[in-house]
Order: sequence, then C-alpha cells, then structure tokens
Amino acid sequence: MMPRTLALAGALGLFVLVGGCTDSTAPAATNDTTFDIDLRWVGTKPTGTVATAFDAAAARIEEIILNDLQAAKVGSKEAPFDLTKCSASMTGTSALDEIVDDLVIYAKVEAIDGVGKTLGSAGPCLTRVTGGLTVVGIMRFDSADLTDLANKGRLNAVVLHEMLHIVGVGTLWRRRGILADSGLATVRVTGPLAATACVSDHGGTTACQGGAVPAENCLDLDAALTCGVGTIDSHWKESVFQGELMTGYLQTNNPLSKMTLQSLADLGYIVRLTTAEPYTVPTPPVAIGAGAMGASLRAASEELIVLGAPMAPRFVVDELGRTTPIRYR
Ligand SMILES: [Zn+2]
Repeated sequence: MMPRTLALAGALGLFVLVGGCTDSTAPAATNDTTFDIDLRWVGTKPTGTVATAFDAAAARIEEIILNDLQAAKVGSKEAPFDLTKCSASMTGTSALDEIVDDLVIYAKVEAIDGVGKTLGSAGPCLTRVTGGLTVVGIMRFDSADLTDLANKGRLNAVVLHEMLHIVGVGTLWRRRGILADSGLATVRVTGPLAATACVSDHGGTTACQGGAVPAENCLDLDAALTCGVGTIDSHWKESVFQGELMTGYLQTNNPLSKMTLQSLADLGYIVRLTTAEPYTVPTPPVAIGAGAMGASLRAASEELIVLGAPMAPRFVVDELGRTTPIRYR
C-alpha cells in the first residue's frame, strides 16, 4: 500500500455548507448533561458506509465521554469566526457566531488524489480557554481512499482514530502539559491515568515504566513508512503498542484500549471505562533499533494503513467568543 501523508492545504474549491449554516439567528445550544458531537458536512455529504462510519465514530465517542462540557461561545455578531483560518478546505462555510455544546466537527470528503498518497487529516481548530478542550474540529478526507478503506473493512477504525485526534488524543497533549521530551527520542505522555492503565490493564510494565506512555519518535520505523512530523509526538509508539488504535499505523485489529480512554481523562474528560476494548501490550517488545519495526510492518503490509497527520489546535476561544491564535515555537 502506498504510504499516505498529510496534505491538508490541498486543492480548493467552492463548497456549500450542508446542515450546519450558522449565523446570529442560530439558536443557542441546549444545556444538557451529556457530551454531544454536532457533525456538520461541508460540501456533498457522503452516502452509505462512509457516512455511517462518521456517525458511528461520533456515537462511539459520545458513549465514551460522560461529561457535558461548559458551553462555549464562538465568534460574535461583530466578529464571526472564519473557519478557513484553521483550514483552507473550509472555504464556503458560514462564519461562526454561536454557542457550542459540546463539540462541533466539520467534515469534508472530496476527491483529492485517488487511492493512496493523501488520505487527509483531522484535528482541533478551536479550544476552550478554560480547560483547554476542543470546541470545533475539522476533518478532511479523500473520497477515493475512504471508499477503498470501506471495501477493505477498515474505514470505521480510521474514522474513529481521526475523530479521537479532534477530541484531543495526540493533539492536546502538548497544550495540556502532559507531553514530555517533545521531539526527542524519549518523548512520552505523562498523564498518570493512562500510564497506570498501560501497566495495570494492558501488561505494559516494561513499556510504561516510570509513569509515562511512550509516544512515537519514528526511531524504530523504516523510512518507507513515511514516519515524520505528523506522526511523531502525536501517537502512541508503534514499535511498543502496535495494534492499538492510536498508534500512527493501523494493523488488522485495532482495539481502543483503556489506556487511550484514560488519556482522555488525563486531558480533563470524564470517561466510561467499560467501553474500552481488550488489549495487551505485545511481548516480548519489538527490538529497539533503526528499521526494526519496519521489517515487521512490511511483513504485514497488506493490512497496514498509514494514517494522515493530525492537525494541532490553531486558536483558543475565550468566554466572550474571541479567538487568539496559538503560537508554537
Ligand atoms: Zn493519527
């Protein structure tokens, strides 16, 4: 399979926002007690298995996260928020002036470059000033790749993986202060609940010793896997965790572990741990060394899906709906 890499700022066109038109007359979000995802399609809404996969992923995350987040004002009548500030692919959407409860996801499926190469990307666009959790996220994918993944029975895992990036897995670690040694070989996630789950629930005593979960550093992966800036620091380490859903590469089976759910708790969500899937950290661990994991993954290349790079959050929105760009050093 051809490796796929991020190309979020790809070809642009004019698109009509379907089912998500927002303006100053939009009703305020209802105040409730559950975590709700408002999935809005940009451009033509896909049909069949593709649409079903997005709905299923949103429902899965609504099942996982228990707490209603504080409603967040986004934009104002005087200064509505333009989504193209986060991604040029959002051209044609209405600028936002609304109250969000709890998370709005703008999804776009369009022809990009055929099967292979660019799969697409996803991530937070706006995050809350208090608590730092995502208010608005963006997903954009190549329709040919999604059809191909659906035919292979892999689509649901890919869409859920990408939607979990919007919620915060891999994308909010740094902002929330639980990513240590970013960019270094020792990069790791120091969220205590995830680290404990790694050891206590998944047999990762060696993998997660020292109270941290190893994050991807690309050092054990073959260059042919295009491990790079989009994979590094934002996924669990492939050579350690392999099949787990939130590594940068999907294999045949990709369980959503209690470790990943607890990493959401480390970010500030309240999670329903009983929704985790059985998962065991592979033993013995894959040998550490350049290319060691590459051989293993090449052997399974028919089943390997190289995911798109997640998008880091771009803006913080305050209680008055005002947005401030996030600056990364
Ligand atoms: Zn990913």
